[in-house]
Amino acid sequence: MTIRSFDLLQPQSLAEASDLLVKHGDDARPIAGGTTLVILMKQRAVYYPCLVDLQSIPGLDGISEERDGIRIGALATHGAVERSPVVRNSMPVVAEAFGKISNVRVRQTASVGGNLAHADYRLDPPPALLALEAEVSIFGPKGSRAIPLRDFFRGMYETALEPGEILVDVKIPFMPEGSKAVYLKYSALSANDWPCLGVAALLAKDNGRCRELRLALGGVAMTPVLIRGLEFARGLNLSDAVVDEVLGKVDGQISPFSDLRGSEWYKRQMVRVFVKRAIAQLDSGT
Ligand SMILES: Cc1cc2nc3c(=O)[nH]c(=O)nc-3n(C[C@H](O)[C@H](O)[C@H](O)COP(=O)(O)OP(=O)(O)OC[C@H]3O[C@@H](n4cnc5c(N)ncnc54)[C@H](O)[C@@H]3O)c2cc1C
Repeated sequence: MTIRSFDLLQPQSLAEASDLLVKHGDDARPIAGGTTLVILMKQRAVYYPCLVDLQSIPGLDGISEERDGIRIGALATHGAVERSPVVRNSMPVVAEAFGKISNVRVRQTASVGGNLAHADYRLDPPPALLALEAEVSIFGPKGSRAIPLRDFFRGMYETALEPGEILVDVKIPFMPEGSKAVYLKYSALSANDWPCLGVAALLAKDNGRCRELRLALGGVAMTPVLIRGLEFARGLNLSDAVVDEVLGKVDGQISPFSDLRGSEWYKRQMVRVFVKRAIAQLDSGT
């Protein structure tokens, strides 16, 4: 199917891009890699007469190490994150999550900001970024603001972005001392398919006992889910009983629904398998 014609507006700054978005209102949309937006426009699921090209704004694709974490520009591609020595050295789980997305063609083109702003319920990066307590920076008509990623996803394809706002970068604090993290993607159809579900876990231990456990899941609710209430595990060995209690908390906080990749029942069972697997992997390796 052919795409309907549109104007490609090429701002040179965030301020200009935001002004264009405000000026054209519902007729305009930012475009980054275009991997999602162009498909949706070709399918005629959406139509915007004006696309505001974020790639024309310099400096939005950097990946840099700062005093307390790593900053990844919204225009960095999935492949750039996957290969970045800065990311791979200090938070390999992030490189792992981006490296598991689809195929090399998508990863070479699609951007970090486009992935998060699209807010599909099955995305791979959000669980890893949530488990690492990432924060996003946003620029818009009222200036700049930063919000924790856990407050960014509001519903399926809905985010905290207000009209005229642009996601600028993601800041990921360094992981707690001595901690390890893992992202497990479960694809029910084929290896490079969208995930049926994804589980990210972070574990820090002191003398064999849990100091901190974090879990975040994708594909099992309208938005990615950061599991609450895991503080109870602090100071404990991650015995079968403790892991069962963790599984109970996870089960109570997810709300999977049936889709092409599995029924609600199936996803609940597979969540148990992958949460247990993630914890076991970290517990034996820390
Ligand atoms: C074949 C295929 C398979 C895929 N498989 C997976 C998968 O397995 N796992 C996974 O996680 N993802 C998957 N994806 C999704 C992929 O990660 C997204 O398509 C991609 O991240 C979107 O990035 P983009 O730069 O192309 O965004 P675009 O298509 O340009 O934009 C997507 C949306 O985000 C908005 N947007 C883009 N950038 C910004 C910004 N900086 N600020 C505000 N709004 C913005 C756009 O207006 C649009 O609504 C797949 C995509 C394709 C096409």
